Amino acid sequence: MCVHVLTPTCIICGGVEEKHLLIREKAICCTCEQRLVTVTLDDPEYFFFLHQIPKLWIDDMSSPPDLLNHTD
Ligand SMILES: [Zn+2]
Repeated sequence: MCVHVLTPTCIICGGVEEKHLLIREKAICCTCEQRLVTVTLDDPEYFFFLHQIPKLWIDDMSSPPDLLNHTD
């Protein structure tokens, strides 16, 4: 079996596909991209995606940005 080491893992399904989108160095495979654009509010998968998408912007949970912690 051929393993593509340079192909990133999809942040949504965890799968590895050669065809994928790269957003902020995070990958979304073609399959998930299609589901994302076709999913509807009454689809149970909508909430699944809703929880996965923030992973695109969260690089490290242990060091949250200071932007939200201004006390002055
Ligand atoms: Zn995927």
